[in-house]
Amino acid sequence: MEKTRAQVTCAFCRGTGRSRGAVCQVCRGAGTVALSSPTRRCVYCRGSGLQQRGSALTCGVCRGVGWVTVEEDAVPCPSCRGTGVEPESKLPCLTCRGKGVIAAEKA
Ligand SMILES: [Zn+2]
Ligand SMILES: [Zn+2]
Ligand SMILES: [Zn+2]
Repeated sequence: MEKTRAQVTCAFCRGTGRSRGAVCQVCRGAGTVALSSPTRRCVYCRGSGLQQRGSALTCGVCRGVGWVTVEEDAVPCPSCRGTGVEPESKLPCLTCRGKGVIAAEKA
């Protein structure tokens, strides 16, 4: 099946193409990033693109884009209940890799 591409606004620079006085490292100055469809807002960083609030580091799940590619038939991850976070370590959930959803066939 052919994957369609979605153009999403870069969360790290909020579509400006610049971050902290330099060209945005996530979108390389474009302001948008092309992802395979369907896309979903990254639950791990809540779409901020940042590893932590106020952090200058990019989210490890979406790499700073704020959006992730998910499966066509995605369902909420049973391990993290859709939060994308491991309850103990606060690291990205190992089952869904921080996306909060997994393919229905793997659920
Ligand atoms: Zn950017
Ligand atoms: Zn993220
Ligand atoms: Zn999960």
